[in-house]
Order: sequence, then structure tokens, then C-alpha cells
Amino acid sequence: MQLLMIGTGNIFSSARFGCSAIIKGPTGKIMIDCPDSLPMALRKAGEKSGWKVDPLEITDLIITHLHGDHCNGLESLGFLRWLHHRETGAALPKLYMWKPVADRLWERLAPAMDQSGAAKLADYFEIRFLHPERENLICGITVSCRGTQHPIPTSALKFKADGKLLAWSSDTPFDPSLIDWLAKDSDLIIHETSPAPTHTPVWLLNALPEKIRSKMRLMHMMDDFDPKSTTIACLQEGEVISV
Ligand SMILES: [Zn+2]
Repeated sequence: MQLLMIGTGNIFSSARFGCSAIIKGPTGKIMIDCPDSLPMALRKAGEKSGWKVDPLEITDLIITHLHGDHCNGLESLGFLRWLHHRETGAALPKLYMWKPVADRLWERLAPAMDQSGAAKLADYFEIRFLHPERENLICGITVSCRGTQHPIPTSALKFKADGKLLAWSSDTPFDPSLIDWLAKDSDLIIHETSPAPTHTPVWLLNALPEKIRSKMRLMHMMDDFDPKSTTIACLQEGEVISV
């Protein structure tokens, strides 16, 4: 698997985009979360990495939860793909979510996208559920999910392909049981950090055993985060990682 980091900031960031990435698997690419200013976020990550990403080529998208820094780009992407679908008949993107997330997504999008009551979520996205109790196959990648203790329904994710495993914490307070789940058999753990109580302060990650910290990278930093406060490296927007 290869991962392209699109955004590494948090909801208050004025310097970076909301946390998001694209994972290239055996049969396609999965985008994780959909931040504000999505077209600019994709363009800038493409320029830095040389890995160009066209919003019209996003076939499979996972939304972890409904805080705006993780899903505000859905309006732009939805309208773009709806127009493209009408003009060319191209397929809509598949949008995967945990059911508690899916149940409330249209509440958030409808005031901007229901087109005088004539439109529904399925006009923009092909909705698929992520099942926490079993593995989900997306783009040749086996995807597992597990709820976190963030204040709204939020799913952490694990991606498995070619014998490698990549774990994504999503937004979460510090949670040793979640870290155990992320660390089990994984080659790379991408973990969030931001102030408690709804997020994970870095000093708690600094106290983890070396065998976990050595395969961990950070996302979701505040703009004033000091990289020298930890030996766990911060991910950069436009960075490509092979797992
Ligand atoms: Zn959040």
C-alpha cells in the first residue's frame, strides 16, 4: 500500500488542511475523510508529491465522523460528481461510513444540497455501510473499523493488503484499548494528537512502549504544536509513505 497525506491539521488550523489521506491499494484508491477546500487540498498535495489526484477520479471514500474538518468537503465533491454524472453518466463515488455516521449525514448536507426538496443523498453518493463486526473489502484492501470515544460517533480504521497493515486512529481521546487494537499486527499507526479531553495529548503517546511509538506517526496537530515535544514524527501534507 501507498499513502498520500492530504491534510494534517485540526479544526482550528489556519496553516494546514483537515486530516485526510488517500491510500492506493491493489485495485484502486480509497480517500479517508473529506476536508474543507478539498480541491485546493488535493492540488497542493499533488504538487508536493507528484501524485496528481483529480476529484473526478475518487471512486471510494470513507468518512470517519461528522465534525466539519473531516467532512466539509463533501458538498463540493458531491456537486462536482453530480454534475459530472448528469453530463457523462459516470459513476458516483462510493461513500463508506459506520451506520451511526451515515444516519445523520443528510441532516448536515440537506440544507445546502436538497435542491428544494427534490434531491437526496443517493443522488450524490453511492452509500455503503462499514461493518464493525466484520471485514469490508474496498479497492482490494480489507478495511476494519472500531468506534472511538470522541464525543460523536467516530470510527477508527485498519487497512490490510499484501500482508501489510496500516492503522488510522481518527479523532479520539487517549484510549489504551484503542491503541492496542491499532497496534495489533500493524506496520504503521497514524495517530491523532490535540488537547484533551476530546483528543490525545502527545505526552500520553510519549509514554507508550518504544515498539509502538517506533511505528507511529502523528496527524491532527494544532498549529502551535512543537515537533520537538516528541520523538514521534509528524506527518507532512503531500508526504507519500509506502507500507
Ligand atoms: Zn472530530
